[in-house]
Amino acid sequence: MGAYFKEIFTGFWSLLVGMSITIREMTKPVVTEQYPYEASVMTSRFRGHIELVPNEEGGNKCIVCGMCMRSCPSACITVEGEKREGIKGKALTRYRLDFTRCSLCGMCVESCRPGAIRFSKDYNLAGTKKAAYIFDLLKRLEEQNK
Ligand code: SF4
Ligand code: SF4
Repeated sequence: MGAYFKEIFTGFWSLLVGMSITIREMTKPVVTEQYPYEASVMTSRFRGHIELVPNEEGGNKCIVCGMCMRSCPSACITVEGEKREGIKGKALTRYRLDFTRCSLCGMCVESCRPGAIRFSKDYNLAGTKKAAYIFDLLKRLEEQNK
């Protein structure tokens, strides 16, 4: 009989100890990242998919040389441009990235002499269709600049 009451007391005591720890921790400031309610800040070395770098006029720095496209070992990039009046060289009209094939190797970023592309900090990518990972980076930049 004594062992029975001792077991009840031990169980009740451990419940009290557990609850006191829970209540004490609830009143302390939160130290963990509250994802997905808060956006995570990626480190400087994080590699998301590539993106176009904006220039000071709100356009892009791309000179449509095609080096990124040629240096990509996975053939992820398609760059198109056109001659426009008053512009030296070509103006970028399309920058397509097939992110499903990208290995984030960085060859494209390294080969771009004007520094027109860089790794984005986008990490929150989810989708059930391949089309969700085919990016029009020029359109993306234009939307970001609005
Ligand atoms: S990071 Fe590598 S695989 Fe990805 S687009 Fe650039 S060159 Fe291609
Ligand atoms: S992003 Fe850079 S390497 Fe690619 S076409 Fe434009 S300027 Fe050339």
